[in-house]
Amino acid sequence: MENKQLRIALAGNPNSGKTTLFNKLTGSNQFVGNWPGVTVEKKEGKLIVDKEVVLTDLPGIYSLSPYTLEEVVARNYLIEEKPDAILNIVDATNLERNLYLTTQLTELGIPVVIALNMMDLVKKAGDNINVKELSRQLGCPIVEISALKGDGVKEAALAAIEAAKNGKTIPQHSFSGPVEHALAHIEEVTVHNLPEERQRWYAIKLFERDEKVVESLALSDEIKAHIEKDIRAAEKELDDDAESIITNERYIYIGQMLKGIYKKKGKGQLSASDKIDRIVTNRILALPIFVVVMFLVYALSMGTSIADGGVSIGTFLTDWTNDVLGGAWLTDGSRAILEGWNVAPWLVGLISDGIFAGVGAVLGFVPQMLVLFLMLCLLEDCGYMARIAFIMDRIFRRFGLSGKSFIPMLVATGCGIPGVMASRTIENERDRRMTITTTTFMPCGAKMPIIGLIAGALFGGSTWVATSAYFIGVAAIIISGVMLKKTKRFAGDPAPFVMELPAYHLPAWGNVLRGTWERGWSFIKRAGTVIVISSIVIWFLTSFGSVNGKFGMVDDLYEDETVVTDEYVAVVADRMGVPEDEVEPMDDSILARVAQPVSVVFKPLGFGDWKPTAATVTGLVAKEEVVANFGIMYAYDDNDGEEELEENGDQIWDRVAEDFNAFSGGHGKLAAFAFMIFNLLCAPCFAAMGAIKREMNSARWTLFAIGYQCCFAWVMAFIVWQLGRVFAGGMNVVGLILALVMLALLLWQLFKPYKEAQKLTVK
Ligand code: GDP
Ligand code: MG
Repeated sequence: MENKQLRIALAGNPNSGKTTLFNKLTGSNQFVGNWPGVTVEKKEGKLIVDKEVVLTDLPGIYSLSPYTLEEVVARNYLIEEKPDAILNIVDATNLERNLYLTTQLTELGIPVVIALNMMDLVKKAGDNINVKELSRQLGCPIVEISALKGDGVKEAALAAIEAAKNGKTIPQHSFSGPVEHALAHIEEVTVHNLPEERQRWYAIKLFERDEKVVESLALSDEIKAHIEKDIRAAEKELDDDAESIITNERYIYIGQMLKGIYKKKGKGQLSASDKIDRIVTNRILALPIFVVVMFLVYALSMGTSIADGGVSIGTFLTDWTNDVLGGAWLTDGSRAILEGWNVAPWLVGLISDGIFAGVGAVLGFVPQMLVLFLMLCLLEDCGYMARIAFIMDRIFRRFGLSGKSFIPMLVATGCGIPGVMASRTIENERDRRMTITTTTFMPCGAKMPIIGLIAGALFGGSTWVATSAYFIGVAAIIISGVMLKKTKRFAGDPAPFVMELPAYHLPAWGNVLRGTWERGWSFIKRAGTVIVISSIVIWFLTSFGSVNGKFGMVDDLYEDETVVTDEYVAVVADRMGVPEDEVEPMDDSILARVAQPVSVVFKPLGFGDWKPTAATVTGLVAKEEVVANFGIMYAYDDNDGEEELEENGDQIWDRVAEDFNAFSGGHGKLAAFAFMIFNLLCAPCFAAMGAIKREMNSARWTLFAIGYQCCFAWVMAFIVWQLGRVFAGGMNVVGLILALVMLALLLWQLFKPYKEAQKLTVK
């Protein structure tokens, strides 16, 4: 074998153009398989310019840390298979982030050649990169390319071949004194027997306490203790943990290097879009502007009705449709008509108090929802939402989260299912799992009637309550993200997120209206299918039951005084925990019997009554069902024909408010708010849980996600209800103490240091 086959590894960040370049370099000489033992795609191919050279496409990675499958696969290949050269593709439009990987690659002791990709974009933007200087500082050859257009691609391949034959890359970057001191010690006691050019990488990894490397070197306990002392000394001196020190110093090094090398096109040529962005994405103003924008969105869609001096057209229309659909005309009107036709009473009940009450309750909120979706579509279409993703990335990254999670969140404001599916765009498995777990915290369209009901019926159309629902969702995601990031399973670098910000433009009304209608229509369709069917079931469960040993329609059985004796009423009153004169037939319904024991779970949250319990549980079928269920449970005809028909109309939601006040000891608003929080954050509907299961592709992770959501929802509602009563009166000392303990634990998990902190202190 006079002519040894050369092997070159193609390494780079996700989306840096690796696949494009790989295809250009290998043409049709590719073979695809899986990396040994894992399902990460392994692509290899022979170079077009030299068939003797095999190019291996490594998984896209941001770092050589051991936290993702992709990183482990890539670095195992580099360390164990030791290719003859690394062709490092670098996205020139994102130098800082891409060079983070480059600095690590140059430490491996393998010759590195950089293919500086996307140069067409850099040139188009008029930016300038001093490539010669960059090459000198990094210590490796750089070839400017555009993988997409094919420019420089062949030259890059030739440079890589040359490096594989004769090249040598010496890492140019040195860390700060205390780190280098520790590294020298570590090299000496652990890896002096390895080839010299590979020692540095091992030493750095040992310094970072990289478990996989520690394991692979099979060090004695004595040596481990020795190097631990060196690491501790550096940590103490620099007041940070070892891994963060390395991360920080790399970023600082890159930041300083780029200062003189990367020149953005001169100022003074800002487009209108850029000018708007200077304000809208301003570091300080961005978030307040976003809050104001969302407040306006909710004020217009779900705030105080224009009829009551507010600005909300949505609420104005919903008030009207609620009267019509949820009240007099539909429920009572249909009842009157059907009774006039001598239809059997149970059928009247089924149609009027079941289907019409349930479906009508949901459809009543359609106007609010259409206005809300119209606003969100407008913001999306004009380009504002893309800015929000950008702003969120900045905030998320500060907490070690990826801004990529924002896209699924955005999608989830329509429906959680595509939201969960949108998490596929997150390459990093850990971040993806986290996003799948937290995305459904966003208020989806189906949760909107719950918000509308609570904000409307209990808070008189408060914009703050409606807006808070949105930000509670966002906060739940951030809080969960931060807390989870600090656990071992989720720790690690956030996957940086890049998106091109489209220039602002006037909304295309066609798109906006189509988007609004699509979301609204799917909601209406569900009301006509899922909700009709489950309303029938719920009606049955609320209308039938066993009264004093007799099964039948509870309303009828309660008319019979031989069945419902005084002693029996006392028994029911005792079971339901209400005064005897408040016992109602529905208390004996199947639903009440089933939900009553479960309501214990919600007692500490302020809504431990069977009705909200039943609503919450049926919400798992579909979140609209929460409101539909209230519609059915409170739609009973209790005016014995004495009151006017129309008056009864508005009463359904008033009854809900009254009832919340009754079972919460006069704290109806607080209990309703806790109820809203729980229903917003707890497990989503079954369909969304199915999506979570598909995307997690693991029963264990699915259970984790759903368990986490329910626990988080419970704890949040608990804290709100218990602390709220300190101010509202009627506090419970034990509850308060528990709430404070939970709050303290939560804050502790939130503010304790990261396992591997992400202090991106560049700039
Ligand atoms: P990978 O994730 O690293 O495999 O990246 P891809 O090869 O899939 O490329 C990501 C995106 O960047 C695709 O939309 C490519 O068309 C685009 N792209 C790749 N190289 C270039 C380039 O040189 N110039 C431009 N403008 N786009 C590129
Ligand atoms: Mg690819």
